[in-house]
Amino acid sequence: MTVPFLPYGRQTIDDEDVAAVAAVLRGEALTTGPEVDRFEAALCDVTGAPQAVSCNSGTAALHLAVAALGIKEGDHVIVPTLTFLASANCARYVGAEVIFADVNPETGLMEAAHLEIALKQAPVGSVKATIPVHLNGQCCDLDGIAAVAKKHNISIIEDACHALGGTYPGGGKVGSSPLTAAACFSFHPVKTVATGEGGAVTTHDADMAATMRTLRSHGMRRGLTAPALPEFGLAADGTPNPWYYEMPEVGWNHRLSDIHAALGRSQLRKLDRFVTRRAEIVARYDAAFASLSNSIRPIGRVGGSPAWHLYVIHIDFAATGKDRAAVMHALKDKGVGTQVHYFPVHLQPYYQKRYGRQSMPGAEAYYARCLSVPLFPTMTDADVDRVVAALADVVAA
Ligand SMILES: *Cc1c(COP(=O)(O)O)cnc(C)c1O
Repeated sequence: MTVPFLPYGRQTIDDEDVAAVAAVLRGEALTTGPEVDRFEAALCDVTGAPQAVSCNSGTAALHLAVAALGIKEGDHVIVPTLTFLASANCARYVGAEVIFADVNPETGLMEAAHLEIALKQAPVGSVKATIPVHLNGQCCDLDGIAAVAKKHNISIIEDACHALGGTYPGGGKVGSSPLTAAACFSFHPVKTVATGEGGAVTTHDADMAATMRTLRSHGMRRGLTAPALPEFGLAADGTPNPWYYEMPEVGWNHRLSDIHAALGRSQLRKLDRFVTRRAEIVARYDAAFASLSNSIRPIGRVGGSPAWHLYVIHIDFAATGKDRAAVMHALKDKGVGTQVHYFPVHLQPYYQKRYGRQSMPGAEAYYARCLSVPLFPTMTDADVDRVVAALADVVAA
């Protein structure tokens, strides 16, 4: 008997999504056109944020947010080490240095206390921002983090790539927090909503949004009534020359295409359904893992209504007598895909070479035990039960 392979995560695409993309392909604008505006408006709707700036990846979203805050060489940015590479790399893109913060070993989340410790590692006044990561979809304690940030006059950029569609523990949609400068989202296929590659930044700050719109398109500005170079930019009658554009600051091509945006908007219509089904699957796993084995337990919970991106268990591999690679291979043989989220970023060769070997006990303890098991909206209850049974077999064997 062959059973379908269950990856740890995957996109959910239906005929409506296909039709939305096909309509763009038959139309006029393939890249940044009306679909991008509509997608951004839809993002404002689902997050409750007044501004949404789309771009071509979650990584680009982080890059735009860091750049728009004016962070540069000589500055420091505090990033939890238990995250995807991009959360830290975005600081390096603008020449700033990364200070890694440790995380809670049960939840994987950076807390205010971890931020305080990290702050002590940089010259006073050199830390410009921190990038808390809403790992797995669970939100960091933004109230606590914001209290520390305020005291030290640093901005907060949420890495909300895992958390679209969730609610902060204190209320409010993820992406709408008035405590932070911006929130960054990814629409990679394993994330809750897929555009292929894609991302966005939400913010309350209209000026910051305008800066990010300029930076995502080479730093170009057009139609200026007061250009820096009036002899080129203005006609004899003082109106803007129609061909003229100017670049006061260097930017990038981080634009999203209309093809991607149309898929994104179609996907956003299903966001609530996706989040609800993910929560049902999480509840079914929780019930099963509560009594399966002393060496397996779900990660720690912070409450609220997260939009679950990953389902992560902690396994005491020593107690099972198998190492993680053996467990992953055995599960794969049973048609169950797993992954490790994440290998702590401070251990990456690039960062070890730059900052030396650091010890982050909370993150290293979380990492040593974590395993992400399949979670995506089209999983059936029987699929969930199959994952649990496979784990029971592998761990007991
Ligand atoms: C996926 C992800 C990113 C990067 O998003 P891309 O769209 O793949 O560039 C950044 N941070 C976290 C936590 C992510 O999971």
